[in-house]
Amino acid sequence: MNINDITPEEVSTYYKKLEKNATHSGYFLNPDKEFVNELIKGLIINRKRYGYASCPCRLATDTKVQDLDIICPCDYRDQDINEFGACFCALYVSQEVAKGKAKARSIPDRRVLISDSIDQQARPTPILAQGKTAKYPVWRCKVCGYLCARDSAPEVCPICKATKERFEEFVF
Ligand code: SF4
Repeated sequence: MNINDITPEEVSTYYKKLEKNATHSGYFLNPDKEFVNELIKGLIINRKRYGYASCPCRLATDTKVQDLDIICPCDYRDQDINEFGACFCALYVSQEVAKGKAKARSIPDRRVLISDSIDQQARPTPILAQGKTAKYPVWRCKVCGYLCARDSAPEVCPICKATKERFEEFVF
């Protein structure tokens, strides 16, 4: 079977999962369901092709570790929604856009902007509670910023459902 052959059931199942996760976590899918379904097809194709659902609007490398930041939901979603009212693909939108009070507009790819910027290397590490030792390491979800203090990162982020590998140790 060709990986591009996607059944309506596959799309519908994926849509329901996205919608449920979005609703539970305070996110909004683009109200244009047809448009969303096209993006979902891209996600399903990428999942079959690479083994992970990389962003349907970006070129993946086929090396998971290099593409972690663009596995949907990508690391850039929240900032783009806050700043532009939608993620790069416009799969996720702000509440205003979802309710038809604002329109999503075309936006630059924050991933490209970040990789082009030397500022990212220079970004200072927050220094809090200097000199103190923590009882547990703190883990930060790179997708939504969720923080938790425990021996290891959770298998799945309870907020945005990103998997464990999307967590980084948060240095105080
Ligand atoms: S959340 Fe990120 S990865 Fe997912 S569709 Fe939007 S831009 Fe692409």
